[in-house]
Amino acid sequence: MKSKRQKLNYRVLQDLKRRSSIGIIFYIILVPIVIYAGDCHLKYKTFAFFFVFSVCTICFLRFLHVLLFDRINNLNERFNTILFFVLVGLTSLIWGIGFAWFMFMPVEPNSKLLMAMCTVGLSSGGIVAFMPNRSLSFVYNFFMVVPAAILLIVSDVNLPLATMILLFFGYMIGITFRGNREYWDAMNIEVILQEKSEALEKAIRIDDLTGLYNRRFFNEVFETEWKKASRDKSLFTIVMGDIDHFKLINDTYGHLAGDECLRQISLILRSIFKRDTDVVARYGGEEFVVIMPDTDSMRAFEMAEQVRQKVESTRIEYKGDLLKLTISFGIASVVPDYKESKHNLVNDADSALYRAKLEGRNRVKVR
Ligand code: GH3
Ligand code: MG
Ligand code: MG
Repeated sequence: MKSKRQKLNYRVLQDLKRRSSIGIIFYIILVPIVIYAGDCHLKYKTFAFFFVFSVCTICFLRFLHVLLFDRINNLNERFNTILFFVLVGLTSLIWGIGFAWFMFMPVEPNSKLLMAMCTVGLSSGGIVAFMPNRSLSFVYNFFMVVPAAILLIVSDVNLPLATMILLFFGYMIGITFRGNREYWDAMNIEVILQEKSEALEKAIRIDDLTGLYNRRFFNEVFETEWKKASRDKSLFTIVMGDIDHFKLINDTYGHLAGDECLRQISLILRSIFKRDTDVVARYGGEEFVVIMPDTDSMRAFEMAEQVRQKVESTRIEYKGDLLKLTISFGIASVVPDYKESKHNLVNDADSALYRAKLEGRNRVKVR
């Protein structure tokens, strides 16, 4: 199970991947335009070859990573994140070196202009794509444009252009920080809303006192499981339990003692009916019901018997008193038929429970 933090990180990483994938295509389209539109590929063959080759290779690796993203993620999330960051960093570094080279070398003005425009476009696109992660966005933009500015300043070739590049870089970083804040504000609101809706959903299903499912949720599950069992022609069993002489506990030790008993017995029920498909609910005051899809009454009997024995042998401590309780169960099973009323099954389990009470309580009866 992923923790909340891990889920959020994964979500942001998925987001980064989605936002940046489209940019990869632009690199592949733009690199031949920049190189082959002017005379660069004729005059500087080696540079042209290495630039095109390295941009295409890194883009290919990034495509591969996007395609294999989820598979790698299942293996090692940290490795996957680092790989993503390294590939993005390398893309911008390779492009940034190319940009510096174009601004520094005496290539045709038309090629210089094309390269500058492409770089501005890719840089701005990257800002939007990598906004969820400030560091990545910063590194990406730094590698894209700053090497050119440094080279121009150090070689004293074109100081106004170097200044312009640095101003552009500063502006982009400003936008990154603002966008990043807005992204995370929206993300936090989403997380808070999700938590609230999960808590609400839970509150609607769960009984406050015992932590078991409530009657409302029982009704919902009963309905769907009944339909499912009718379709599959499978056995459907329900177990109803009722604490014996519970009124006496309340009358003798008080309501709060009674509440504690309800909690303890609920824990016992949950510790025994623990299959994922078993739904243990509080049916009413001191009455419980368990839905057991695809289970026969013998199996249900064995489990109810385990609960009965455990309740009988448990002493519930309450303010120095040791309380002793017993519980009775009634079980009914059926292969549901859509013509038959589903309430018959509950009535049958109830009659079995009634029989258990009549015969002296502290027992399990099967209809
Ligand atoms: P029987 O063996 O026939 O089931 O006897 P009983 O005393 O358990 O049955 P009865 O129906 O007479 O009493 C049920 C009692 O359960 C009465 C009620 O005060 C108590 N009860 C119901 N809900 C709660 C609750 O949430 N907390 C507490 N403490 N008691 C509750
Ligand atoms: Mg009762
Ligand atoms: Mg009772």
